[in-house]
Amino acid sequence: MTSRHSVRAVAISPNRPGEVHLTTLDHPEPGPGEVEITVIRVGVCGTDRELIRGEIGHPPAGSSELILGHEVAGRVSKVGARVAGFKVGDLVTVMVRRPDDCPACVAGQPDMCLDRNYTERGIAGAHGFMAEKIVEHQQWVIAVPDYLESVATLIEPLTVVEKAVRQAELIQRRLNYWNLRTALVVGAGPIGLLGTLLLRSKGVDVHTVARTRSPNPASELVASCGATYVSTNEQSIAELAAMLPNIDLILECSGASSVVFESMGVLGNNGVLVLLSLTGGHSTMEVPAAEINRSLVAGNKVVVGSVNAGREDFTNAVDSLERFEELWPGLAASMITHRFSPNDDLFAATGDLPGGIKSVIEFEGPGRS
Ligand SMILES: [Zn+2]
Repeated sequence: MTSRHSVRAVAISPNRPGEVHLTTLDHPEPGPGEVEITVIRVGVCGTDRELIRGEIGHPPAGSSELILGHEVAGRVSKVGARVAGFKVGDLVTVMVRRPDDCPACVAGQPDMCLDRNYTERGIAGAHGFMAEKIVEHQQWVIAVPDYLESVATLIEPLTVVEKAVRQAELIQRRLNYWNLRTALVVGAGPIGLLGTLLLRSKGVDVHTVARTRSPNPASELVASCGATYVSTNEQSIAELAAMLPNIDLILECSGASSVVFESMGVLGNNGVLVLLSLTGGHSTMEVPAAEINRSLVAGNKVVVGSVNAGREDFTNAVDSLERFEELWPGLAASMITHRFSPNDDLFAATGDLPGGIKSVIEFEGPGRS
């Protein structure tokens, strides 16, 4: 039993790579403009794995440990002074990145930070959401309809593809005519699957490409929303592209840098390739540079990187999840294949689990279902 002013949290220490531990945090009262959120569950992803291994991230200044977690669902349990728009009991999620003082951040787009000195809760310089309770300023809190509780941890990963598609739509304002009809999603991890659902919800003909042969949980989800799953063990990306009409959009979320160049090679004329994989390591390769360049120039093709997400991507993600539930009730929730408690071996929880798509850590918050 923790005291009223301390909470249990899941943490890592930079000097202990590969280990996750439970810690106790002093828990402040919400100040003016702040809300206290009692955490229901937190999603885990590849970023958490890299953090635990000590490959990325750093604790807040003055702290020897970092609380993990950046995909949160919780309920408002206290409101500070001058809080408007939130009340006790509201289901919410929280934005991850906090601005620094660069011109892009000051202009309200910390996801477009120029100097990359931003902080990210649960990743870089700020504690995350894997705690019994968190306190957050209302400007970073996003309201979620109650009936989306079981899928609210998917909002943050969904914002990654919301931003990707929004970037493509902004870029395509260069065209007098753009009909987003055919798309490739490369990679069938959580981001690729959420990208598949998002594009299908917009009526796009989607082909989702991954290594693993079907059937598997990802291929079943892809088929359930009317997209086509293609295993590169059975058909290469080039072979697939040869059978398709002009590929208008590619979301590259495979996590493999070699696939980036394969994707460039099959992008259709006037198309957009959005790169979403933060690939680690230092791999090098030979590419047909002249051919790729000629194809990009002659076909007016755009290759763009996209990271994180803005506020509108969070609100759009909430709207998209509502649309997913209308189109395919319960399908998004089926992505959550493994549930852990904060006391479990969370290094294992963040690994490749058999039949696993997405794992969550369940806290004993209110409204647990
Ligand atoms: Zn900045």
